[in-house]
Amino acid sequence: MDPKDPVAVAQALIRCESVTPAEGGAQALLESLLAPLGFAVARPTFSEPDTPDVANLYARRGEGPAFVFAGHTDVVPPGDLARWREGPFSGVIVDGELHGRGAVDMKGAVACMVAAVARRPEAAPVAFLITGDEEGPSINGTSKLLEWAAGRGERFSACLLGEPTNPEALGDVAKIGRRGSLSAVVTLQGAQGHVAYPHLADNPLRRLGPALAALMDEPLDEGTAHFQPSHLEVVGVESGTGAFNVIPASATLQFNVRFNDRHTPDSLKALLTDRLAKALGPDAFAIAFQPRPGEAFLTAPGAFVDLVSDAVEAETGRRPALTTGGGTSDARFIKSYCPVVEFGLVGQTMHQVDERVAVADLETLTRIYERALVAACG
Ligand SMILES: [Zn+2]
Repeated sequence: MDPKDPVAVAQALIRCESVTPAEGGAQALLESLLAPLGFAVARPTFSEPDTPDVANLYARRGEGPAFVFAGHTDVVPPGDLARWREGPFSGVIVDGELHGRGAVDMKGAVACMVAAVARRPEAAPVAFLITGDEEGPSINGTSKLLEWAAGRGERFSACLLGEPTNPEALGDVAKIGRRGSLSAVVTLQGAQGHVAYPHLADNPLRRLGPALAALMDEPLDEGTAHFQPSHLEVVGVESGTGAFNVIPASATLQFNVRFNDRHTPDSLKALLTDRLAKALGPDAFAIAFQPRPGEAFLTAPGAFVDLVSDAVEAETGRRPALTTGGGTSDARFIKSYCPVVEFGLVGQTMHQVDERVAVADLETLTRIYERALVAACG
């Protein structure tokens, strides 16, 4: 296989059945391609109780702080196999499109990264940070791989992450940050009793309306130059015994907040607890925040963002919009080590049946990555 050919590499990667958290041969394939290109390759596996072991790959060429290509080789499950026109692990090309799970999210982009470094044997220092745990719990993946690399003295100048950022066409969007995510369960306390003797009970559902209003009515902020306003959505309410003659003892509601860089998880926890306390009284509720909230971050426009935008514009004729929307990504871990920008393929079919990518886009993305690599490393 010619590592300079992103289509051949993407086909081979798609044929590895690496449904998260399985390695499926995908990282072994990357090692076999990168080692002959002068990369020192390490493949640490990380573990933690109650989560699956995950294979990861770190590869480096050259000395000094490295320009990093980051991504993942795991994919989401294919779903109903009968609904795929081509098999999810077929990697076949039909009418100029490469089919298979991971074509856009994100084996296709990983293949473009490999092809870019293969075409520029002189470009260094450069590294690959590849996990098999992006579509899973994200515990034994990029965050641990970064710690592992830092512990070995690895340093990074900047990072390009290949998540599918473009909504319609290559060149639409580069992501320069991501919103944070925080979830919690609120329990409204009451006292169970007979519905015909309400004075002997305390119905927690009477506090449901005020609780919903306290959480959702007042905006959390007005947004910033680079972020939408932060947003809280209640996503579940549970209470009741099923009987019409029983006042329930408690009610719970679940919510999630997607927040911008005006907040941290801690500042939001304090703000929301305070709003509930003012609406309900401090002792009428309990709030349990879920572990491992995602932090918001922004890679401020500047030299590195320009470098990526220039590379995209040179190959597509369009300067990408710089946004921070969508869900979380592994960029939330990388941002603590170096500036990170996300640019990848067109995301329209990601996680869907018949995931596929235009073959022509693989060549264009390879050239974009090549330009960024040369601009960053010389
Ligand atoms: Zn992805």
